[in-house]
Amino acid sequence: MLEKFILSFDDFKNSKIVSVKDKPFCFDIDKNIIKSSDIKFSFNAVKYDDIVSVECNINGYFLLECSRCLEQFKYDVNISFESSFDKDTYETDILEQVRENLILNIPMQPLCKPDCKGLCQVCGKNRNISNCSCEKEQNKEFIAEKWSKIKSLAIGGKNAKSKKKTYTSS
Ligand SMILES: [Zn+2]
Ligand SMILES: [Zn+2]
Repeated sequence: MLEKFILSFDDFKNSKIVSVKDKPFCFDIDKNIIKSSDIKFSFNAVKYDDIVSVECNINGYFLLECSRCLEQFKYDVNISFESSFDKDTYETDILEQVRENLILNIPMQPLCKPDCKGLCQVCGKNRNISNCSCEKEQNKEFIAEKWSKIKSLAIGGKNAKSKKKTYTSS
């Protein structure tokens, strides 16, 4: 069961403002995506006649795994959002809103840094830490492969042309 934090019109019987500061938020999401998190949220809710306006701020960090080098890194979270609900709706779940905003903020392909070099496909070394010699070998092979493809294409092209020629001349 997901934790809830219900804010309703009942909370505004004695005051027009309800504030919560730095409440810890337990982010219960797939541990494969988020290794751990340290998240707090604060909000300020103000009641105007038939409407409650909420201003919320989420602060902290996720511990994510880089999609290229698989190292874990801190991903800072600092999100602000606003919402409101009226007398008909009567209540809202603040935690649900916090959760939604956090999920929207998780990068699809987390990177420890924009230019992360990732792992070597050959020896598995983290190429941010040390450069292995595989890359050069790989490049040579790649170029050799490319050339052999180009050559075979060229030969194929010639064959096709000569065939056409023999066809039209006959
Ligand atoms: Zn990385
Ligand atoms: Zn390598």
